[in-house]
Amino acid sequence: MSVKVDQIKRTDRKTTEIEVSVEGHIIVRAPLNEPMEKIEELIESKKFWLLRTQQISRAKYINDLHKKYEEGEKFLYLGIERDLKIVDNPEIKLTYHEGTFYLSKYYLKVANKCFIDWYKDRAREYVSDIADRFSQRYNVPYKKAIIKDSFRQWASCSGDGNLNFSWRVILVPPEVISYLVVHELAHINLRNHSSEYWNKVEQMMPDYIKYENLLKEYDHILSIFKNDMGSFDSGKESTSKKKENVKQNKQLEFEI
Ligand SMILES: [Zn+2]
Repeated sequence: MSVKVDQIKRTDRKTTEIEVSVEGHIIVRAPLNEPMEKIEELIESKKFWLLRTQQISRAKYINDLHKKYEEGEKFLYLGIERDLKIVDNPEIKLTYHEGTFYLSKYYLKVANKCFIDWYKDRAREYVSDIADRFSQRYNVPYKKAIIKDSFRQWASCSGDGNLNFSWRVILVPPEVISYLVVHELAHINLRNHSSEYWNKVEQMMPDYIKYENLLKEYDHILSIFKNDMGSFDSGKESTSKKKENVKQNKQLEFEI
């Protein structure tokens, strides 16, 4: 495994330094005339440390909301930015009521976890509810809606009949969540993106293209790693493929 340097910053300095950013990017700071060979040598000598640190940073970053948890800060929920209020309540960590999040001041140090746990719980309830409704109405049985930590894809349908969703779906508008549910439910019986598949999607949600396009506006929520995770793009699909007859895919998972 080799180290991929994201940026080399040359400035008027005496020594070369390598930094791993919070996102897991590798940034080299080098003197103006430092030969590339020397920089490469240094990277090679620190290879194992760099790869390990990068891995830890990425793992941490995936589950970090990068917030300050201050009064008045905004938090996305169902496509709308909601206010945060810090309250003096030792019992309830985090609650949500009529457009406002209430975070206990006693849980400020673990606020990030409080939010992610809350988002995950809401995502589980919300997605299951929508999936059940579409499943019954269009007679497409599925096993279970599972909420995952996934940051590379919004959702997928596994071969055993489970629907998987990233907890981040709870951040986007309700209609977009419905589209994601419909997209995966339609894969239960059609494990491809054929015109037959898209007809099934259209039957369940006639204006789905509108929400498929709207979903792209929320790409940034997932795309932090788009550039340095090679497998990301291969998992994506585009509307242009819609009416194309895609040949039967043997893969077990279909993702969006
Ligand atoms: Zn799909």
